[in-house]
Amino acid sequence: MQIIEILEREGVELKRSGYRYICRCVFHSEKTASMVIFPADNRWHCFGCGKGGDVLQFIMDYKGLAFPQAKKYLGIDDDKDDMTVAIEREKANTRKAFRDWCKAEELRLMNLTMDIYAYLNKMDTKYIFGIDSIAADVRNLEKYNYHLNILMGNDDAPKLNLYKSARAHAGH
Ligand SMILES: [Zn+2]
Repeated sequence: MQIIEILEREGVELKRSGYRYICRCVFHSEKTASMVIFPADNRWHCFGCGKGGDVLQFIMDYKGLAFPQAKKYLGIDDDKDDMTVAIEREKANTRKAFRDWCKAEELRLMNLTMDIYAYLNKMDTKYIFGIDSIAADVRNLEKYNYHLNILMGNDDAPKLNLYKSARAHAGH
C-alpha cells in the first residue's frame, strides 16, 4: 500500500522534492508546506505540528477512525487479532518515527546551517528563504552544529534526547 497513492486518493496535493514529497499539513493550518512524505519508507511527518506515522496512522488521523476501522477502510485483512497488531505497530512505529525524525532533522539542520554560513559570509543571500529569520538564527549556530554532530554520530542515546525534547516542544 503506497502512501503517495493513498494521500492522492484522499485529495492531498503533493509536490515532489527530491526523494520525498511535501505538502501543506492537513492537520494544522499553514501557508508553507511542512508535511514531508518519504515514499521509500512509506511514512509521513509534519515538522509543524509533529504528527506523523505510516499509512494507517494517516487514515486514522485524517478520517478520525479507530485502528480496526482504518484497516477496514484501507481493505487490510489479516489473521492476527487487532490488539496484537496494534501493539506491534506501535512499537515499530515508535522506532521508525525516531529514525525518520533523525534523518529529516539532520537534513533540516544541514540546510539551515548552510544558509547561516552563507549569510555570515555575505554571499548572495537573495535566494535564501526567510532571510530575516536566518539573521535572527545566527545566535543558534553553535547549538545547531552541536545537534548535527549528535545526529551524524553513532550514539543513539543523545539522539533520543533530542528527539524527545523536539516532540515535547511540538506538544507531545
Ligand atoms: Zn502539521
